[in-house]
Amino acid sequence: MRALAERVLQWQAEHGRHDLPWQKPADPYRTWVSEIMLQQTRVETVIPYFQRFTRRFPSLEALAEASQDEVLALWSGLGYYSRARNLHQAAQLAWREWRQLPDTLERLTALPGIGRSTAGAILSLGFGQAAPILDGNVKRLFCRHFAVEGWPGKSAVQQQLWALAEAQLPAQHCGRYNQGLMDLGAGICSRKRPACDRCPLQASCQAHRLGRVEALPTPRPRKTLPRRQCTLWWLQQGEAILLNRRPESGIWGGLWSLPQEDEQHALPPWLQAALAGPGEETLRLKHSFTHFHLHIRVRASTLSRLPRRLEPAWRWQPLDKLEQLGLPAPLRRIAQAMRKAS
Ligand code: SF4
Repeated sequence: MRALAERVLQWQAEHGRHDLPWQKPADPYRTWVSEIMLQQTRVETVIPYFQRFTRRFPSLEALAEASQDEVLALWSGLGYYSRARNLHQAAQLAWREWRQLPDTLERLTALPGIGRSTAGAILSLGFGQAAPILDGNVKRLFCRHFAVEGWPGKSAVQQQLWALAEAQLPAQHCGRYNQGLMDLGAGICSRKRPACDRCPLQASCQAHRLGRVEALPTPRPRKTLPRRQCTLWWLQQGEAILLNRRPESGIWGGLWSLPQEDEQHALPPWLQAALAGPGEETLRLKHSFTHFHLHIRVRASTLSRLPRRLEPAWRWQPLDKLEQLGLPAPLRRIAQAMRKAS
């Protein structure tokens, strides 16, 4: 039987994806941006974000010199905002240090937000080097093909998968091989109902032979997510809304959101004193993070007296210019609902 890499390369040439926006051209910078956007996000969702982002920031230099607000605004709606903050910070570091993205595993993985798999994609797809990748799709494919047991999030399983990934690496055309693995993982060896009858690896696939396709990869051990509650204040004056910039660490770090109250956070005293009344509950919604569910109550009110000057983490933002800021996804939903209601 031909080597796995050979079959992947042939399949990629005939059936793989060749027209993704980051493949034209597939330089290191564009590969990097796409890889970060594609983490936990589907290709179809990423495409318009990638196009807008690279139109505005066509190079490492342009991204390094942008403001964080603008970067977050272009990321707004894509979620997992630490990815955008890390991307921005890494661009600034790399530009300052090397005037380009570095081309070694050590230097790439020393930058914020770049793990071994992302570095492997940048090295192979962007720089044409031989380096393995192991994103979620490739992990699933390898777990099945080599019948690797155990949750892939466990470090022992990861090590086993990296060893397999390295062992399969072809001497040439590594970028196209890695692209082929990603395409196979996304389109053929999919999470549900993989298309084994169209898979070029079926003859050597151990999960297929053992009837373990549905059982692999081993799922993450189950745990019930905790539930938290908070109140967000919709404080509108005329056509503007009061927003508060979230601290850099924690959820929605660096994004502009509504003033929030919960078990740990109270409104600042100047805001409590200025509230015209207890407000009216106008909306309830739930937003799920990877580690908890957040139940949000939105209360609407106005301010009886306006502070003369706001601190830098606060601003009145015109409602028709909300899109210029990086906003958490629930705030977009709230703004839409409030617009409809008025
Ligand atoms: S034969 Fe099926 S399970 Fe095995 S790698 Fe191909 S698609 Fe995945």
